[in-house]
Amino acid sequence: MSSKIKILFLNPPGNKIFIRDYYCSKVSKAYYLPQPVDLLIQTSFFSKEKYELKVLDCIADKISIEKAHSLSKEFEPDFIIGLLASVSLKQDVPFYTQLRALIPKTKILVSGDAVLEDYDSVFGNWKWLDVVIFNFFNGGAKKWIENDFENASGIVIRNGDSFLKKAEVRRSVLELETPRHDLFSARKYRMPFANALPMATVLTNYACPYPCTFCIMSTMPYMSRSANSIINELITLKKLGYRYIYFSDQTFFQSKAITREVLNWMVTSNYDISWMCFSRVDVLNEDEINLMKKAGCNLVMFGVEWADEKYLEEYKKSYTLNQVRATFDLTAKAGIKRLGTFLIGVPGQGRQSIIDTVEFAKEIKADYASFNVAVPRSNTSFREKAIEAGIINESVKVMDQSGDEVTMGTGELSREELQEIKNWAYRSFYFRPIYILKRIVGISNWVELRMHIQEAFYILKGLFKRSAG
Ligand code: SF4
Repeated sequence: MSSKIKILFLNPPGNKIFIRDYYCSKVSKAYYLPQPVDLLIQTSFFSKEKYELKVLDCIADKISIEKAHSLSKEFEPDFIIGLLASVSLKQDVPFYTQLRALIPKTKILVSGDAVLEDYDSVFGNWKWLDVVIFNFFNGGAKKWIENDFENASGIVIRNGDSFLKKAEVRRSVLELETPRHDLFSARKYRMPFANALPMATVLTNYACPYPCTFCIMSTMPYMSRSANSIINELITLKKLGYRYIYFSDQTFFQSKAITREVLNWMVTSNYDISWMCFSRVDVLNEDEINLMKKAGCNLVMFGVEWADEKYLEEYKKSYTLNQVRATFDLTAKAGIKRLGTFLIGVPGQGRQSIIDTVEFAKEIKADYASFNVAVPRSNTSFREKAIEAGIINESVKVMDQSGDEVTMGTGELSREELQEIKNWAYRSFYFRPIYILKRIVGISNWVELRMHIQEAFYILKGLFKRSAG
């Protein structure tokens, strides 16, 4: 019998493709599914010598509730580190309640956007819950498991029906061990823009230093890994046979010197694996964009949000429409595809503003567009304002940014109208003959073709389901 401490990393089952990670849950819109990064990063804190780790990603592996319960029981973990999300709260809570009854000695720790506030009711109502992890980069779960309460940070610990909050710690540069990619089913993860498979998720930094008021990342302490730590992970991924990387940083290239060192290493070592990332239009300059291209970048996602500078200012995006235009041009010139993300449904927004936003997405010739519905995420000033304006009430906890279920109207537009105009935005952007032709001509290999067909199928399915609903 193993004398190692057993830890189960658990992404619970669900009746949709839920993406529960990184404190920002949603329903997958276009069949995309990255590795759950909270769980992935936390595998790096536990040594092989002392711990036996198992990953159960019930979404990626399409595992039913019954099967998830029986597999968990069979493994007999000492601890479970799991995800718990706003988008799937009504399914996750009964799942964990039943799980605890099956394995009563196992301690349950969870991470997710559903547990970032209101700890009185969280610990009061959910008796199965032992610890909340609100900063998965801090490694507080491991300290708690090792009874090192003094040094545990970024977690909230049950204390009877009450709780004890251990503040998160900002570290300037983190020497993280390589996360245990070998524990995940490599072939199950995908993004529509990946031009090769299997795909791995890599996080080079944590949170985001910008102050956008609608975004949970702005409330967390920004930290970066060291260049060495990132390069070691990239070396491991190549050895494991990965062919594509999704850098899931909120803002790639934010830590300039570190990113430059990593990218230069990718170029000089002929790393030869393509990748994609998120960044900001005011972070990347021409020189950096060209270096990214040389290092294998095939797509950058930029938050554009609105075609109205009034909103960019009000929600503290801190860039202008001209900066958007300029960076989209520079990125296209370098031969990198651009995805723009757009936020519709902020308080006071009317139909014309959304129409202007869709037209702007076309004007900047975005290769792809993602139209997300504003959600009042926990801990954001945006949520406080929405409550103050009477658009939502404090009890609203179930949220989905993908717009599968719209959480709130704008005051000008109802939830139903927003749903309808969001569907129109997708049709207006993607169903242009010239756009479809460009996409077909731009497909460079079989993997891209397969991903495009799957993506188109899921977008159409979503649009028709919502129209019929
Ligand atoms: S730049 Fe992006 S990730 Fe960072 S706070 Fe703003 S919206 Fe959030």
